[in-house]
Amino acid sequence: MRLLILLWTLPTTLIGMLAAGVWMLFGAKARLAHGVVEVHGGRFAYWMMRRGFAAMTLGHVILGFSAARLEQLRPHEHVHVRQAERWGILFIPAYLLAGLWQGLRGRHIYYDNPFELEAFAMDALVAKTNTHKKV
Ligand SMILES: [Zn+2]
Repeated sequence: MRLLILLWTLPTTLIGMLAAGVWMLFGAKARLAHGVVEVHGGRFAYWMMRRGFAAMTLGHVILGFSAARLEQLRPHEHVHVRQAERWGILFIPAYLLAGLWQGLRGRHIYYDNPFELEAFAMDALVAKTNTHKKV
């Protein structure tokens, strides 16, 4: 079953691997963590970060600004990994169309995107869990 999921997600993961390769040409480092390839650092990441980017998930590849930032964003980005596994080859078009649809309705293409709302729900859950840990 896991192999089928990996194959179903492979087209999106390949795009992620291509992006990872470009990032690594600009000095990024890659590591395996929690079943995905995490890529961070380098000049490309810095350039993206200056434009408000923190991390991006493409199948089983997560591109992020730094290793520390990837740690923080892991629960959110792994929601996108699960979405990519669910949607397979349709993930990127579905994500973009969902954002476009929100934009056409006068909403925010990112903050109102249902794919992001699912990930934000995870962020809220993590924040709540961390609050309870502090008490
Ligand atoms: Zn997200």
